[in-house]
Amino acid sequence: MESAIKAPRGTRDVLGDESWKWTHVLNVCRGVAGDFGFSEVLLPIFEHTELFCRGIGDTTDVVEKEMYTFIDKGDRSMTLRPELTASMVRSYLEHDMRRAPQPVKLWSAGPMFRYERPQKGRYRQFWQIDFEILGVSSPMADLETIDTSMEIYRRLGLTNLQVLINSVGCPKCRPAYRDALKRFFESGPGLEALCETCRGRFDRNPLRILDCKKPECREITESAPAILDSLCCECAAHFEDVTRGLSRIGADARLDKRLVRGLDYYTKTAYEILAGELGSQNAVCGGGRYDNLAEAIGGPSVPGVGFASGIERIVITLEGQGAFLGDKPRVDVYVVTASSSLALEASALAHELRSSGIPSDTDYAGRGMKAQMKQAAASGAGFVCIIGEDEAASGTVSVKNMSSGEQRSIPRDEAASKLALWREERNR
Ligand code: ATP
Ligand code: MG
Repeated sequence: MESAIKAPRGTRDVLGDESWKWTHVLNVCRGVAGDFGFSEVLLPIFEHTELFCRGIGDTTDVVEKEMYTFIDKGDRSMTLRPELTASMVRSYLEHDMRRAPQPVKLWSAGPMFRYERPQKGRYRQFWQIDFEILGVSSPMADLETIDTSMEIYRRLGLTNLQVLINSVGCPKCRPAYRDALKRFFESGPGLEALCETCRGRFDRNPLRILDCKKPECREITESAPAILDSLCCECAAHFEDVTRGLSRIGADARLDKRLVRGLDYYTKTAYEILAGELGSQNAVCGGGRYDNLAEAIGGPSVPGVGFASGIERIVITLEGQGAFLGDKPRVDVYVVTASSSLALEASALAHELRSSGIPSDTDYAGRGMKAQMKQAAASGAGFVCIIGEDEAASGTVSVKNMSSGEQRSIPRDEAASKLALWREERNR
């Protein structure tokens, strides 16, 4: 026999015993978005491949190795989105949001797709939340994105977070740094000792060598020059404003001179937020400024700054820290019948209770009473309504309080009002 089809590697089914954790995170995000004035946009899951080639960059890992690209039936090259920033900027341009008062603050969430080596906290399909502030170049916008992410984590109860921050300069000051970096690698132990990938990066994109996770490269880049020493006055002042602001918003921030984005349209602020619990996949958030991205995808110049955060990594960290993840949704009432001839009575009562705003369920499988009681206990319902022959004949219902074990008989037509009352008392 052929074996049954499984979910593709790197994807997973988030089942009912867990999916509410994602909902909880999204609800918190929605609350913070509202409080900070971000409006939600729902964007396509696939885009023209070119958007990502130009909007993320040909020399990044994401575009070089991780994209799910396919040719559609109209012979167009499409790609499942690996991130949201490029789509956000495309949408801003396409809908001429430049004509609205600036800044435009947008957020979105959904699944992203990257062909990566799956491991804990790293999947081929994963959820991201994404917040962007478009149309202003003030460092206060950079600060606000960090504040937004920290507020989300604070409300979720995530602790022990560290903000790593750096500046990547701008096309005016970065070339000098790139030269300084190349000189550094060419002299001393440099070039030969780098890993093969980094030797390839040396000509194409030397800044990315700083980003390499391999120990041999990290050892060398430890003493590499810092970009902060090469910043032009404007970038230096911007960085100063952001870092000064970080202490005002209570963020535990540390300068990380290795934090870089090797592409021209990433400018000034770059940051990452780490959670100790995550091990090697320890980034819960990546963000920064990209003042030249809109131009890179064919639009006018629009400054922007934002961040993306992975929901799976947030959930793993919250679980690791033993934080509250919301409650598993459950019904309040489970209706049980003594015989299958009373099934319609049970359905009618459940219907009535739901109409009165009381989440209710019943058994449709025609199981025996004992099995139904077991099902009722498993459902987590606080109350079980029992309809037996006697109850049916006398127009009553027996209600069992599942936490106290107490059982009492009430008139059938008072069931909804009584249960609403008891439920309220219980939830108080
Ligand atoms: P990493 O260095 O861990 O690969 P990244 O720099 O590729 O991260 P970003 O592109 O900045 O990550 O994405 C923002 C956030 O999305 C990350 O901080 C992380 O929380 C999450 N994320 C990225 N890739 C994955 C993945 N494959 N699986 C789960 N979460 C991910
Ligand atoms: Mg990555």
